[in-house]
Amino acid sequence: MGRPGGAQASRRLILLPMKPVMALVGRPNVGKSTLFNRLTKSRDAIVADFAGLTRDRHYGNARQGRHEFIVIDTGGFEPTAEGGIYMEMAKQTRQAVAEADVVVFVVDARGGLSAQDHDIAGYLRKLGKPTVLAANKAEGMQEGAQLAEFYELGLGEVLPVSAAHGQGIRSLVDTALGLLQLPEPGEEGEAGPDGTIKLAVAGRPNVGKSTLINTWLGEERLVAFDLPGTTRDAISVPFERAGQKFELIDTAGLRRKGRVFEAIEKFSVVKTLQAIESANVVLLLLDATQGVTDQDAHIAGYILESGRAVVLAVNKWDAVDDYQREQLQRQIESRLAFLKFAKLHFISARKRQGLGPVWQSIAEAHRSATVKMPTPVLTRLLLEAVQFQSPKRAGMFRPKLRYAHQGGMNPPVIVVHGNSLEHVTDAYKRFLEGRFRKEFNLVGTPLRIEMKTSK
Ligand code: GDP
Ligand code: GDP
Repeated sequence: MGRPGGAQASRRLILLPMKPVMALVGRPNVGKSTLFNRLTKSRDAIVADFAGLTRDRHYGNARQGRHEFIVIDTGGFEPTAEGGIYMEMAKQTRQAVAEADVVVFVVDARGGLSAQDHDIAGYLRKLGKPTVLAANKAEGMQEGAQLAEFYELGLGEVLPVSAAHGQGIRSLVDTALGLLQLPEPGEEGEAGPDGTIKLAVAGRPNVGKSTLINTWLGEERLVAFDLPGTTRDAISVPFERAGQKFELIDTAGLRRKGRVFEAIEKFSVVKTLQAIESANVVLLLLDATQGVTDQDAHIAGYILESGRAVVLAVNKWDAVDDYQREQLQRQIESRLAFLKFAKLHFISARKRQGLGPVWQSIAEAHRSATVKMPTPVLTRLLLEAVQFQSPKRAGMFRPKLRYAHQGGMNPPVIVVHGNSLEHVTDAYKRFLEGRFRKEFNLVGTPLRIEMKTSK
């Protein structure tokens, strides 16, 4: 394997541990979606359905104990089907499996073994990825006779589960993650001790990510690198700008080619999701010539859910006229309304226009995301807000807000304590959020407000 720059190059690189990825595969109707929902439910939700690219693929966040992981629900799996939609589904599924660290192969304990199960098992055995075999719909079944036939698949232990009833799920996940020798989860998403900002540039294919990164790194005269990470590591490139240290987290499988960097891999949803999760700040690039597409909105939605700080930049501003610009601005306001806390820039990566202010917004978003909010200040602001406008009475209850403290960073979380807080309306929470944002000058980060009612 070519490694320009050799040891020196690898010293400049940092490998970040990424969330592990679990793919659920199996023929239709065995219960994959049910299992997916069960696994991701704990973290209220789904994630992203990246339109176009990902028909029949669904991505979700899941957590068990201290371990977080990404789950991919694949559509049908027809490894031997020829042509048409089946071919396409198989391709999607193979891609999902290729991107996964561990595969959960789901079979139907009630339906028994089918020829298709044998095909899939054959494929997985050849692949040699860590795989666990889950026999779903096993509620009320005795282990033994009914499950014995699944050992024929040659994939080791058969784990009885019931996705619908939530049985055997914990031990399934333990077994699956146990195959991966995961490091203990660290303080993911927090800035390093030296204040380094982990930055991910996200966006769908062709918005100009590589062009922008080349523009930046070109200025830095970066040492060459070419180091394949393991699946769970992402390459991150350290660089410095105006005295601020950054780590640029690779979303695209960037490799040096000649004097420039180019993405060697196709756009990868998993890499994008992992990079977002590992970043402190995400720069979301849009393409002025394409407007806001569904895929942009999905990526944006995922960033929001991840709680990361975000800066928006519309690239290729040089290639549109005034009318298009106006339309675009309106489109962003309506389609990406949920990111209205983020700063918006119009840039041209190719012509190097408008790039300076983007850095200021990144720094500002990072400061906001990692702000320290002392309890006395939060409590004073809370009480002032209540005095200005108290929460509505709900039937016999009037919520009583007593004090507030900071419950987390990146994203900042404010925990409000008091009584009957379950009756505080969303509108009132937004009112509080506005007051807190203004006081701490929070820009470019989501702010979460949690209510804790004392018993
Ligand atoms: P997928 O096509 O593999 O994604 O399968 P689905 O999740 O859509 O489930 C197919 C059917 O099996 C649905 O009718 C589910 O309600 C049912 N199902 C899923 N999990 C279980 C289970 O644990 N027990 C039983 N009895 N039925 C289940
Ligand atoms: P990526 O897939 O997001 O990494 O996108 P690339 O950086 O490969 O860019 C896709 C295409 O957009 C290339 O042809 C670039 O030359 C072009 N491009 C990138 N930035 C700009 C820009 O600021 N203006 C214009 N007009 N084209 C750009």
